[in-house]
This record gives sequence, structure tokens and C-alpha cells, in this order.
Amino acid sequence: MQLSGKVAIITGAGSGIGRAIAQLFAREGARVVVSDYIEETGAETVRLIKEDSNEAIFVQADVSQEADVDQLVSQAINKYGKVDILVNNAGISGGLAALTDISAEDWDRVMAVDLKGPFLTSKRVFPEMIINGQGNIINIASMASLAAGRGGLTYTAAKHGLLGFTRQLAFMHGPQGIRVNAILPGPIETPMIERVLAVPQHPVCQKIRACPAGRAGKPEEVAKLALFLASDDSAFIHGAAYCIDGGYTIF
Ligand code: NAP
Repeated sequence: MQLSGKVAIITGAGSGIGRAIAQLFAREGARVVVSDYIEETGAETVRLIKEDSNEAIFVQADVSQEADVDQLVSQAINKYGKVDILVNNAGISGGLAALTDISAEDWDRVMAVDLKGPFLTSKRVFPEMIINGQGNIINIASMASLAAGRGGLTYTAAKHGLLGFTRQLAFMHGPQGIRVNAILPGPIETPMIERVLAVPQHPVCQKIRACPAGRAGKPEEVAKLALFLASDDSAFIHGAAYCIDGGYTIF
């Protein structure tokens, strides 16, 4: 088992990619702190993990709220004594509105979850990782971290920012034993994009069919990449941005 003895916090773990990461990390021996802002979905992830006889707790937290993030990390420490791995997965899409149709509130909402959230969680967990002498932060960014296109203005701006945050944090704190990397998924079969994937003539679906993989990805495939980055097998990898998109961003 690749994560024996490790403690991992995963945000937005009540659904999609976050749930798949939580389940895989638990199967690999990690004690998992499943967090989401909806209790029902997060509790269901914990139930699935326990059904497999693995270890997890649920902590409700909105990643955009500093007080929530504070109690998330406090509860993780109280229960398991440390945090080795933080996966900043919680995210929301921002729609495809034109610049002049985006309200300041809409902009703030996407930035608060997709960019400020990872800042708040990383900031709160950082001193705990320093005490341990090591830590591993994985940011679930997006192919919209690299390319314009179908992500929309706010989401693309937030995810570009998240990649910059990843690189700068890795640069500043790698020497202290903190590894920080980003995963950049392309279209993955989760509730976030299920309405798009349900329309075969949608431009995204047309492009997916033209990609080398010719299909959308599965949350479990992203989870396997997260496992690699969370494990010691990736010890030499700092500040990297791993596309997992079936080739969507190469053309
Ligand atoms: P998802 O199924 O919608 O999962 C996201 C989870 O985050 C949901 O459980 C959601 O809760 C939760 N969440 C939303 N706002 C939150 C907040 N403020 N605090 C805590 N949790 C919050 O979507 P997903 O596809 O698995 O997305 C996971 C990550 O992958 C996101 O960062 C997304 O941007 C990124 N990503 C996804 C794709 C894709 O094609 N699916 C592609 C590129 C990147 P609710 O369901 O209740 O809102």
C-alpha cells in the first residue's frame, strides 16, 4: 500500500474526482478526511470507504470560508494527529457569459472557491506540515489552467491562478520539505460537466471525439495520477502541472 500511515484531507470529496481520490487513497492505506460543504454527499463518500473496511471521517467545510477551513484542519489533527497530504479539489464552474454579463458577485464566487479556497486550506495546513518536516499539496486545476476555450472567463482566470499559486508555493517551500503539484484534468465524467457530455453535438463532445483518446476521462483515472503525486514515487516532482485530458490540449 502506497499511503500507509499517511493522513490526507480531500476537499470537495462528496462527488466526482474528489470522491474517487478519497476512495483510492483510503484503499492505499491513508486515513482520509473527506470534506465537502454538503453533508449528505460527503457522508456517502465516508460510507463507501468504510464499506471497504478503510478509515475516513467527514468534516463539513466551505473552502471559501476561513473559519470552516480552520475547523476542518483542527478536526483532522484532533482525530489523526497530523496532515501529510492536502488535495485541493473543491471547485465550481463559472458559466460562459460574456465579459459585460459577468457580475462582480459571480466573479467573486468562482474566485472564492477555485482560488481563495486552495490558498486558505494550504495556509492553514502549512504549519502542521512544517512540524512534520514534510507535506504534500495537490491542486486539482484544469486544462483551463493552460488554455482558453470552453472554460469560461472566471473559471479560466481562477484555474490559471491556481497553477501560478502551485508553482510559486512549490518554489518557496520545496526546500522545507513541502511538495506542491497540480493536476490539470480535461473533460472528466462527473456531475460538473454531465449536462455537456449528454449532448453529442456540443462542441466539447465533438472535440472529445477528435482527441487521441476519443472519449472523456473517468474520475478514477484522475485519482491514479493523484496517488502517484501523493506517494514517494514522485519524490523528485515539485511544481509540476500534469495534464490528464486524453490529448484535448495538444491541438
Ligand atoms: P463535482 O462532481 O461537481 O465535484 C466538486 C465537489 O466540490 C462537489 O462535491 C461540490 O459540492 C464541492 N464544492 C463546491 N463548492 C464547494 C465549496 N465552496 N466548499 C467545499 N466543497 C465545494 O466536480 P468534479 O468534476 O469532480 O470537480 C473536481 C475538481 O476538478 C474541480 O476543482 C474542477 O474544477 C476540476 N476539474 C473538473 C473537470 C471535469 O471535466 N469534471 C475538468 C477539469 C477540472 P456540490 O456538488 O454540492 O456543489
